Amino acid sequence: RFFANVQENDAVRDAFARFEDVMKHAADDLSEAGEGAAAFGTALADASGALRGEDGGADVVHIVQGIITAAHQMETRAKELEQRLEDASHEVTQLKDEVEAMRVEATTDALTGLANRKKFDSSLREAATESQETGEPVSLLMLDLDHFKNFNDEHGHLIGDHVLRLLSTVVQQCIKGRDLAARFGGEEFAVILPATSLANAKNVANVIRERVSKKAIINRVTGQELGIITLSIGAAQYRPEEPLMEFVSRADAALYRAKRGGRNRVISEIEGEPRVAAGV
Ligand code: GH3
Ligand code: MG
Ligand code: MG
Repeated sequence: RFFANVQENDAVRDAFARFEDVMKHAADDLSEAGEGAAAFGTALADASGALRGEDGGADVVHIVQGIITAAHQMETRAKELEQRLEDASHEVTQLKDEVEAMRVEATTDALTGLANRKKFDSSLREAATESQETGEPVSLLMLDLDHFKNFNDEHGHLIGDHVLRLLSTVVQQCIKGRDLAARFGGEEFAVILPATSLANAKNVANVIRERVSKKAIINRVTGQELGIITLSIGAAQYRPEEPLMEFVSRADAALYRAKRGGRNRVISEIEGEPRVAAGV
């Protein structure tokens, strides 16, 4: 992670250095064009003086030829400048796309394509601030795969990675609009649900949980069925003014209770541990 960050910073530095370079050249071109225009102005003023006979009566054809030559030079310079500015504009557009791609990469989890932890943190802050301003609720789901260590041990880490990608796809399919799914770390995920009450968040969580538990995991290479995988989910609703760490902790505590209660279930912060580990 450390080296990825360093590289990312190097890439950003490189992009900005190139941007500075393009701008410097464009500024040089413009100042050169300014000098060209001034020279043309002087040539015209001289010609106008000559026509008025101020320098003792040069012939008109000669004066007009001088103006035409100066105008041609001016036209050539203007065309060159136009081309160079076009090139600069093209390069700036390219740089803008590169910086945008870097920005996306810096906020995306490489394995799953979901938002990464950094993006999760900033999105949660934004959602909480907005909730405070509008009075709309915002809810948070914390998801954790059940007995995933066993799954990895049995089928290998690479197939485990496939399962993480599969889970991400299912989660994405179950959310909409401004909802944000993120990889919180390892085999833990989080979903931010703006403008969503705790009860509705629990419904979303149950849709995710059910869909995941119904997906047959199949080894695409061998065709072997690897059974199913389940997950446990904790849900909490933001309390105005509370520190974000506390909000996350409350969702995490609910997740912990879902694990303790028997896994493959959703527990919201207002629910206690189920007395019976009821089959789901
Ligand atoms: P629990 O039901 O209590 O959550 O049990 P668990 O085995 O899922 O939990 P535990 O925290 O003991 O183990 C988490 C496992 O998740 C261990 C680790 O190998 C696996 N894991 C974490 N990140 C990745 C990953 O990026 N890829 C794969 N394949 N496995 C991962
Ligand atoms: Mg787990
Ligand atoms: Mg875990």
